[in-house]
Amino acid sequence: MAAKIDLDQCMGCGNCLAACPRNLLKLTDGEQTNGRGVRYVELSSPDACVDCGTCELMCTAGAIRVDCSPAVSGYDLIRKDKVPPHAGCYLGTLSKVLADEIVRLGIRQDTVIFEKKGSNIYLEVETHDYDGSEFYEDGLRYKREHPEKIVILICASSKAGSTAQNVKWLGALKEEKVTIIKTLNWFEPNETMDGLKTGGCHHLEELAKQGNASLLARAGVRTPAEVSELRRLVGKALKNQMEGKPFSVVEMLFPCFYRVGNRPQSLMPYEDIRRINAWFDTCVVPDYEYRVYLDH
Ligand code: SF4
Ligand code: SF4
Repeated sequence: MAAKIDLDQCMGCGNCLAACPRNLLKLTDGEQTNGRGVRYVELSSPDACVDCGTCELMCTAGAIRVDCSPAVSGYDLIRKDKVPPHAGCYLGTLSKVLADEIVRLGIRQDTVIFEKKGSNIYLEVETHDYDGSEFYEDGLRYKREHPEKIVILICASSKAGSTAQNVKWLGALKEEKVTIIKTLNWFEPNETMDGLKTGGCHHLEELAKQGNASLLARAGVRTPAEVSELRRLVGKALKNQMEGKPFSVVEMLFPCFYRVGNRPQSLMPYEDIRRINAWFDTCVVPDYEYRVYLDH
């Protein structure tokens, strides 16, 4: 069968390149661009493809489809016209992970997402986008009024203000039965890119001490192993809600390329993305352990 790549959907981020166990994916040279005007990924030897599905899992833009693997895929749930908001944005990966688990669990009709605009989760499921932070209280209220629904709240942690807001919100949770995806992004480096100015928090440790949740975990998103673990955790969180267990918080840690790179929110070259990822590995990841803090 072999992986199918939508060449014009590809943003040229390169996220899939290192993921292929057979090294079959190549980025075109600077001369060869697609309808978006960027270099794109091609499959060099389709006959050698083993349909493992890793490239589909890692694609941030919903540009790759592998028919056989994974056995259940949310590919068709991703709104390709919207994902991702800019090249390499891992919110596209989060859309993919959510889509896969919603399809696997068979809860598409029951799922309702509440988010602030800019969270950029674009799926073919009922979604309520808000201009402001009212999405959070409205999401909790909606779940109280519709206990049969599966409610997902996307809480972005970025600068100090949103981080403090999340700490306050999550610290007040008690019996609520919702799934919270906390995106820990928008890290801003200092001028020499050797440290952080703002963003980030270690709130999961505190929440674990309170013991009200059914699942608290932090995951990465930049390798196949990390994305697979994120997918497992998101699936567990949704399953907990289906079973009526208390709330879950899955925190996803990743760099925001256009903010760290101090660029406009548009296409970014693969080389810049690679450089920022290397910086993130050195300066951020060591301070944020990927682990499950609580799992009931
Ligand atoms: S399906 Fe697997 S082997 Fe085929 S191109 Fe994708 S990652 Fe490589
Ligand atoms: S991961 Fe990036 S480079 Fe690879 S196919 Fe998707 S958009 Fe293109």
